[in-house]
Amino acid sequence: MSTTAVSVPMPSIPRRRRSPEEVAAAAPVSGPKRVLLAAPRGYCAGVDRAVIAVEKALEHYGAPVYVRKQIVHNVHVVSSLEAKGAIFVEENEEVPSGALVVFSAHGVSPAVVQSAEDRGLRTIDATCPLVTKVHKEAVRFANDDFDILLIGHEGHEEVEGTYGEAPDSITIVNNPDEARTIHVSDPDRLIWLSQTTLSVDETMEIVEILRGRFPKLQDPPSDDICYATTNRQTAIKEIAPQAELVIVVGSSNSSNSVRLVEVALEYGAKASYRVDFANEIDETWFEGVASVGVTSGASVPEILVKDVLRLLADYGYNSVEEVVTAKEDILFSLPKELRATMKAAGDPDYKGVKSSNLM
Ligand code: SF4
Repeated sequence: MSTTAVSVPMPSIPRRRRSPEEVAAAAPVSGPKRVLLAAPRGYCAGVDRAVIAVEKALEHYGAPVYVRKQIVHNVHVVSSLEAKGAIFVEENEEVPSGALVVFSAHGVSPAVVQSAEDRGLRTIDATCPLVTKVHKEAVRFANDDFDILLIGHEGHEEVEGTYGEAPDSITIVNNPDEARTIHVSDPDRLIWLSQTTLSVDETMEIVEILRGRFPKLQDPPSDDICYATTNRQTAIKEIAPQAELVIVVGSSNSSNSVRLVEVALEYGAKASYRVDFANEIDETWFEGVASVGVTSGASVPEILVKDVLRLLADYGYNSVEEVVTAKEDILFSLPKELRATMKAAGDPDYKGVKSSNLM
């Protein structure tokens, strides 16, 4: 059986750096240089749980452990787990029959669960509980004969999984333009749900357009955009008006990281860039810049933020002020299949682990 690894772009080779002196000469900075560091930032409880699930599966079952799709959308996390023995695949068909496969934090459709069963695969479901909540809402409202408008990005794994719960009842709404033109069969029995990692503001804009067209549109029973997405956006909204440059650490396929760049620009940052690694930072971004905002997406280990802060310090941004807009202390229990194995093996971590080894 051959396997097809998920394509993971490797970190780029560092360019020749423009020296701090060259940057200062190109555009002097008036006033003290500082970093505004967003809090919360980085790993959320769902990502931490998913990464720990793969680490614990490797520890208890041994390598290889197959993982369907990127466990979380972060290049560093995926390559680190690969180095420990995880094999990332696109589909169950690439996993040898009888082997162990972990489903990613983004969730899977019932068809994927069924195909794993058909192949006799052993599974650990690392779907974030907050994604599972949206799946359950979709099933419940579809069973109650609602038309469901799922606000989200078509093609994103999470949206594929939720859509797969009730494809006959769900219509995906990608953006405000689609909200203006979408057709529904019963405007009197209509509810919207959403992907967990969207821009809060853009989602509300879409909902308002939909409500203008369909006044009986119902809201989800509770917010589908998760606490981690909301908190990271709130923190960057606070920082952006004070920052000439905002650097977001996160991968290009990380929805919430990409949204953070958009939110930073929308709320007043003069420039904002997303980087996977510190060595992707272009030092010309610092020219004439006194205040730099820094944050990271929900799938980003803190070690990558520290690399960025070190680079910034090299360029004179030594003063780091953490801007705290919320405290997070959520901890999800590990997937039940794994907990049972860990408990039987006497691993005390089955009760819950605060953070993965990749932090
Ligand atoms: S971003 Fe939100 S939904 Fe996604 S894994 Fe983290 S907590 Fe769960």
